[in-house]
Amino acid sequence: MKFNTKTIHGGQEHDRAFGAVMPPIYQTTTYAQTTPGGHKGFEYSRTHNPTRSALENAFASLENGMYGMAFGSGLAAIDAVLKLLKPGDEVIATGDLYGGTYRLFTKIYENIGIRFHFAELSDAEKLDGMITPATKLVWLETPTNPMMNIIDIEKVAGITRKYGVLLAVDNTFATPYLQQPLDLGADIVMHSATKYLGGHSDVVMGALVVNDKAIADRLYFIQNASGAICGPMDSFLVLRGIKTLHVRMQRHCENGKDVAFFLRDHSGVGEVYWPGFSDHPNHDVARKQMRDFGGMVSFTVKGRDGQDAVRVVERLKLFTLAESLGGVESLAGHPASMTHASVPVEKRKELGITDALIRLSVGIEDADDLIDDLKQALG
Ligand SMILES: *Cc1c(COP(=O)(O)O)cnc(C)c1O
Repeated sequence: MKFNTKTIHGGQEHDRAFGAVMPPIYQTTTYAQTTPGGHKGFEYSRTHNPTRSALENAFASLENGMYGMAFGSGLAAIDAVLKLLKPGDEVIATGDLYGGTYRLFTKIYENIGIRFHFAELSDAEKLDGMITPATKLVWLETPTNPMMNIIDIEKVAGITRKYGVLLAVDNTFATPYLQQPLDLGADIVMHSATKYLGGHSDVVMGALVVNDKAIADRLYFIQNASGAICGPMDSFLVLRGIKTLHVRMQRHCENGKDVAFFLRDHSGVGEVYWPGFSDHPNHDVARKQMRDFGGMVSFTVKGRDGQDAVRVVERLKLFTLAESLGGVESLAGHPASMTHASVPVEKRKELGITDALIRLSVGIEDADDLIDDLKQALG
C-alpha cells in the first residue's frame, strides 16, 4: 500500500458490529466478561481501548512500523521513552530541541540521575567520539526547532547501531509524509500528534512507533503502568485528521516554499531558515531523506534588539500569534519569549534563537493572502 492510501486505510478494518466506516468512539472504561478473564481482548481502557487501538494501528502503518502507541501528549510519549532508562544512563540529544523536551530532560530526568549531553549533530560523525559505555539513547529532532537544521538520520543510525545505543527521532516537524525514520535505521519514532498528524489544532496527543518487539513490549508496559494515555474521543479526532495528512502536507510544503522565497527577497528580513534553499547548509541531506521541505519557516527581522520582530508578529492579521504548529491555519511565534522561553538565555544565543527570530507554521490558506499579510506586517 502506498502512503496516500495508508493515510486512509492503513491498519484499519471495518467495525464488526454494524459495519461503521469510521471507527466508533468507544467511550467506555470497562468491558463485560463472560467468566473471569473471559473477554474480547479489552478489559480496561487504560490498557486498551478499541478507538485508541485503531489509531495506534494507523500510527504504525504511517511510519512503516509494527507497533504504535498513543499518549496524552507529545511530552507524555517522550516521558515513556525516558522511562526505558535508569539512573547512571546517559543521553545525547540535539542542541536546539523543542523547549518542552529540553525542560523534561534537564528539570525532571536529570534530577533522577540521568545525564544529558547536547550536541549540534548536523555533522553526524561527531557523534562517534561522544558515545561512551554509559550512553543508552540518542535523541534527534530533524528538522530542528526552530533553526531548521537537518541531521542525517541514516548516518546517525549507522553509529548508534555500531555501539548498540537506541536511536529515537522526534518526527513532529517532518511527519511520515516527508520522512520515515524507522526506514532510515531509527529504533523509535515519536510525534507530537498535536501538530500535523491531528492537523486541526484541536487535540493534544503524542505517539510512538517501533519495529522491535522487545522495545514495543517494554513501552506498552510503561504506557499501561504509568497511564499517560489519551481518550477515545481524542483518538477519533486524530484518526480523522490523519485521513487528510497527505493532501494537507502537500499544500503546507507548497505554501512554505512560496513564503520562504518571499521572505528571502524582502529588504526588512535578515536570515531565512528553510531546508529547501539550495544554499541551506544541509540541503543535500534534506533532499536525500525528505520528500519535500515542509511548512515550517523561521526568519530574523532586521532592526534593533529584536523589538521589531515583536512588532511584526503583533501586526500580523492572518497569521495568528500563538504557540504550536501544524494546523490548517497559519501561526507565527516568537521563540525567544514563547516556545523556547524555558531554554536559558546563553543557550538560546548559542543556538541562534535571538530576539529577532520569528517562527512561522505556514498553513494551507491561499499563499498570496499569506504573503500579503507578511508584506503589510514587515512594511
Ligand atoms: C509540540 C512538540 C512537542 C511536545 O508535544 P505536546 O503534544 O505539546 O506535548 C515535542 N516535540 C516537538 C518537535 C513539538 O513541536
